[in-house]
Amino acid sequence: MVNAKYIFVTGGVTSSLGKGIISSSLALLLKSRGFRVTNQKLDPYINVDPGTLNPYEHGECFVTEDGAETDLDLGHYERFTNVRTSQANNVTTGKIYSSVIEKERKGEYLGSTVQVIPHITDEIKNRIKILGNTGNYDFVITEIGGVVGDIESLPFVEAVRQLKREFGKNAIVIHLTFVPYLAAAGELKTKPTQNSVKSMLSIGVQPDIIVCRCEKPLTQSVKDKISLFCNVDKASVIESIDAATIYQVPLNMQNEGLDTQVLKLMEVTSAPTPDLTSWKKFLYQHNNPQNEITIGLVGKYVELHDAYKSITESFIHAGAATQTKVNVKWIHSEDLEQGETQVKSLLEGLDGILVAPGFGSRGIAGKLVACQYARENKIPFLGICLGMQCAVIEFARNVLGLKGANSVEMQPSTPYPVISMMEEQKKISNMGHTMRLGNYPCHLLEGTKIYAAYGKSDIAERHRHRYEFNNEYKQQFEKAGMKATGTNIQSNLVEVVEIENHPFFVGVQFHPEYASTVESPSPIFVAFVKASAHL
Ligand code: GLN
Repeated sequence: MVNAKYIFVTGGVTSSLGKGIISSSLALLLKSRGFRVTNQKLDPYINVDPGTLNPYEHGECFVTEDGAETDLDLGHYERFTNVRTSQANNVTTGKIYSSVIEKERKGEYLGSTVQVIPHITDEIKNRIKILGNTGNYDFVITEIGGVVGDIESLPFVEAVRQLKREFGKNAIVIHLTFVPYLAAAGELKTKPTQNSVKSMLSIGVQPDIIVCRCEKPLTQSVKDKISLFCNVDKASVIESIDAATIYQVPLNMQNEGLDTQVLKLMEVTSAPTPDLTSWKKFLYQHNNPQNEITIGLVGKYVELHDAYKSITESFIHAGAATQTKVNVKWIHSEDLEQGETQVKSLLEGLDGILVAPGFGSRGIAGKLVACQYARENKIPFLGICLGMQCAVIEFARNVLGLKGANSVEMQPSTPYPVISMMEEQKKISNMGHTMRLGNYPCHLLEGTKIYAAYGKSDIAERHRHRYEFNNEYKQQFEKAGMKATGTNIQSNLVEVVEIENHPFFVGVQFHPEYASTVESPSPIFVAFVKASAHL
């Protein structure tokens, strides 16, 4: 294939129907036929990126290898396809407007009035074409956030309309809608789908495929009705029934013929048959566990599970790899601040404890309690980013006897700044920002838990933090049994700590959860699950 083909995924009726999962599933199906695929997300909000968003708003902020702070859907794309995403794969209204305004200030519009059409829509189209123009992809699948009809998403849908005209058969639109089952009437209802397609038509876009999210199977007559009223082929009406796991969805989409219909509409005649052997093996192992464990996930956003999406998905990948069912017990770190009885009732009997990443000081005291409990009771422990920092602070206070030890983020005037930001560290932060973002190399010491997990001495993992282990205390920690087992040699930064004489106590300054995929589960999560399951 010479030119990239563009597939747009829009949503109607309501949000949360699973556009990200449908986009990822289609990408996987095309990839399994040997095509080169990438997924992109356009977000209609005005934030330049979700880096500044509270996790309660949109769930986790996903970080790419090149250090972009992005929407959590990019996590789904990577987990399904094992294809890495980048800055270019997530575009927001904020990004579009800020670059148009920057160009206007530089005089690049040569005196013309800058308007939504064509200037904003041109900028959107350019951001979509950037991926196709690399020559690296046969298909670019672009998901448009929000629901069609929202004011915010209008310019994006208008850009799709223009691209459909420009590319003809090389651009199609898949519209995801909801077909509710009304128990009182005993019927599936197509009206919301009809109305949602109408609102697409009112802005000039005729969907080519309609994917119908439903709780009950669509009857042929319902499918026929949608085909007739919404002006699409019968084969273009695809059922997307609720699935036990998101990882079943690609197989459901294959059974419904989503990929074959896409290829037919785009006139791709020479498509190899899909090879989903390894995907099916993963699903089999996921559905047939031989062991079962419960991990306590200690965090402060636990009411919203999406805030820890990559972590829970990493447990699914590591669980399948080891045929272990990993139950996650959600523990609010502030609940660990309520005294010993409460701590015991929440933590006793857990097979493993994970202390989660996070920002700010709320819930820190409870995270320290969790670290201490895991350390003293020899429960397998994984601390990620802030979780690793908490393990360091707890060790300093209770083992080294440095009573006021803290991170300067939490307490700028701490007498023992065991987590701090040194001049050397400031220098390596990305693009003038104070945050260390994206992939950094890490050298692992042989004979350690982390080395055993990765099976090699040089790795790279993604980061998203400001503060670091303070090297001035390194000797003291190592003498007392907390060892720096992974370092960024170039900048002399501690990236991994481990406690000796403990079955498994590992803290990582990086976020291994971002890199975990179905095809390639995170090695440290696999090791943590194995330790927790005594495998
Ligand atoms: N707040 C800590 C830092 O900036 C940890 C951040 C995180 O857990 N992602 O260093």
